[in-house]
Amino acid sequence: QLDWQGKHVTVAGLGVSGIPAARVLRGRGAVVTVVNDGDDERSRAQAAELEAEGITVRLGDGATLPSGTELVVTTPGWRPDKPLFAAAAEAGVEVWGDVELAWRLRGPGAAPWLAVTGTNGKTTTTRMLASILEAAGLRTAAVGNIGVSLLDAVLGEEEYDVLAVELSSYQLHWAPSVRAHSAVVLNLAPDHLDWHGSMEAYAADKGRIYEGNQVACVYNTADKATEDLVREADVEEGCRAIGFTLGTPGLSELGVVEGILVDRAFVENRQKQAQELAEVSDVRPPAPHNIANALAAAALARAFGVEAKAVREGLRAFRPDPHRIELVEEVEGVTYVDDSKATNTHAAEASLAAYDPIVWIAGGLAKGATFDELVQKSAKRLRGAVLMGADRALIREALARHAPQVPVVDLDRTDTGAMSEAVREAARLARPGDTVLLAPACASMDMFTNYNKRGEAFADAVRALAATGPA
Ligand code: ADP
Repeated sequence: QLDWQGKHVTVAGLGVSGIPAARVLRGRGAVVTVVNDGDDERSRAQAAELEAEGITVRLGDGATLPSGTELVVTTPGWRPDKPLFAAAAEAGVEVWGDVELAWRLRGPGAAPWLAVTGTNGKTTTTRMLASILEAAGLRTAAVGNIGVSLLDAVLGEEEYDVLAVELSSYQLHWAPSVRAHSAVVLNLAPDHLDWHGSMEAYAADKGRIYEGNQVACVYNTADKATEDLVREADVEEGCRAIGFTLGTPGLSELGVVEGILVDRAFVENRQKQAQELAEVSDVRPPAPHNIANALAAAALARAFGVEAKAVREGLRAFRPDPHRIELVEEVEGVTYVDDSKATNTHAAEASLAAYDPIVWIAGGLAKGATFDELVQKSAKRLRGAVLMGADRALIREALARHAPQVPVVDLDRTDTGAMSEAVREAARLARPGDTVLLAPACASMDMFTNYNKRGEAFADAVRALAATGPA
């Protein structure tokens, strides 16, 4: 256990992870200064509260490192190229994120972590994993980049046998010493490159999840980049590389044989035929990318010693979170599906692959992405497309290049109300048997507070359509 008494810690950023971190460290006797870029009404109110607890807050200057700082604890969202971090590096001061802090503060004999990252499927896989661990009678929770903070889980009253931990690439960037029992990188596609600086830097941050793994590094056989990360990782002796595949599994792999999820990695006698875990129909929704998520969750659970029976029960008990390929309603023979969480092209590709024919609603903030590959792969299944949001022109141009036959409605709008117009336009393009799919392939913040709000706007518009009928 570290001695925090009198240690000078600078916390970067007020906010969901900064405020609790500041409080915990103050509670342990550290001398805490919070530095924050903003200086608005809300941050002033927060500052006043913290000051009353003996924490110094500096508003309107998140760039200068307070003199005497011995450690910086940052909000994961802060970009690594911020001047504060350059100053810390210059001064030889370590920077920890919220996850690193939780890792360092956890008590002796604390629950091991089964860790999940990847460009897409993190939340789904982490929840599936928690559901399986629960079915096995273990005391567990889905934590991390998923709602319940790791700090709360680690310092709270509740005792756990094992934690299902979702980690974002930002969190991993600032988590140098975290050592998971076992971990998975589900897939790797360009995303958040503006934050990380390059694809290489992004991949390297994801790869950190394997560092020091004790039992298993789980990778996706269909995504060689994830296997490469395993090979490059420095792991504990005896830690195994375990692949998952949608096809027939080889030795040390989990896969699918005739509609059955099977495990050939964690069986007593490796020559023995595979251990059956569950049926494809036990997984909701049974779309290919989601079967992959289920296999990854199963691999981590099996690495922890969970029996096959609990894998099946856990998968059956699992319900997807909202806005992830969520069926909203059927109106006049057309199915409306909300995949607002498809905030990048890799995710949108997965849901576009699951339906045919599709009227596609897309657009928003592209975050530096290109759309050619996505449009090429999906063109054959598109009945039409309805575009909105700040970067819609990028998608329109990709459609013109690779799918000129597909009718496109360009709404030329970025206001919240655009969603109901988009749904009405989509309804006009759709024929009975089609799916109208909101899979924006973009972030939502140009038009909505977040992807939840965007998905709710879509669902509301669909319900309004169902009530009044297409105009
Ligand atoms: P994350 O937490 O990584 O954002 P989610 O589980 O919330 O992932 O899923 C986000 C979106 O990514 C889903 O709506 C779906 O469109 C897509 N998705 C989920 N799993 C995968 C996968 N394994 N590969 C590709 N896309 C996926």
